[in-house]
Amino acid sequence: MSRPVGLISALPAEFSYFEDFVDSSPVVREAGWEFRNGVLEDIPLVIVEAGMGKVQTAVVATLLIQQFGCGGLIFSGVAGGLSPDLAIGDAVVATRVIQHDYGALVADGFVRYHPGVLPVPGIPTDHGYALDADVVDTLKSTLHGFRLPRLPGHLPIEDRQPTVNFGTILTGDQFVNSEEARNRLFGETGALAVEMEGGAMAQVAERLGVPWLVLRTLSDLAGVDSHIDFNVFTSAVASGAAALVREVLPVIVAKSDEGEPAKQ
Ligand code: SAH
Repeated sequence: MSRPVGLISALPAEFSYFEDFVDSSPVVREAGWEFRNGVLEDIPLVIVEAGMGKVQTAVVATLLIQQFGCGGLIFSGVAGGLSPDLAIGDAVVATRVIQHDYGALVADGFVRYHPGVLPVPGIPTDHGYALDADVVDTLKSTLHGFRLPRLPGHLPIEDRQPTVNFGTILTGDQFVNSEEARNRLFGETGALAVEMEGGAMAQVAERLGVPWLVLRTLSDLAGVDSHIDFNVFTSAVASGAAALVREVLPVIVAKSDEGEPAKQ
């Protein structure tokens, strides 16, 4: 049988959509978090609401792999949109995650580094963690034709079919609530969205040798109104991220089984 998949979210509104998958086995408490077992489409899960930010996520990701035996990790939640082509409710499946706040403050600005690598001349300058090309292809074919749920009609937004997009997601220990920061981050990286956890989970997964996926739906556009939009839309848009989890679980299980040591 496959190893369980660790499913992480940051906020109660994101986590609430996983309650349906949770089974009745006892909750395991560890370092103040509650780890619950679940099953979705016959795939065993360990589900945690980790709280916000990179360190919370990194600790939970480590526990999921080392202590709960997870063979792959998925983060599902909301994010701020950066690309002018995207709207609230749209989804971004990360093909790369970059910790945008990791680096050096120098006289003329900020220089981004790859986390955990000494910034000496000659180090790789491609930042962040990327999915293998074969995984991206499989995700695209798996999600071809998939339709996200439309947002409920009472919300103050145009009624449209939300889109599923593939690209870079930025992670940092900052809620982005500024037009200037949004434009700068998009201009520097071309990333589609910004959040506070995915890059940390990916770093742990890469170090410990398990596959990872980051799935986000846009609760806001990271600009001047993002603190208002976040409160209005998070609960509704998070259902889209949870719907994506169901679709892509087999992809991460297959990748995890590939990396599993051959059984005797
Ligand atoms: N509402 C609070 C905190 C929200 S934190 C405040 O105003 O400070 C936002 C959570 O959702 C994080 O878990 C993060 O991953 C995600 N998120 C949504 N929109 C975001 C944005 N604009 N910038 C950064 N993270 C965002």
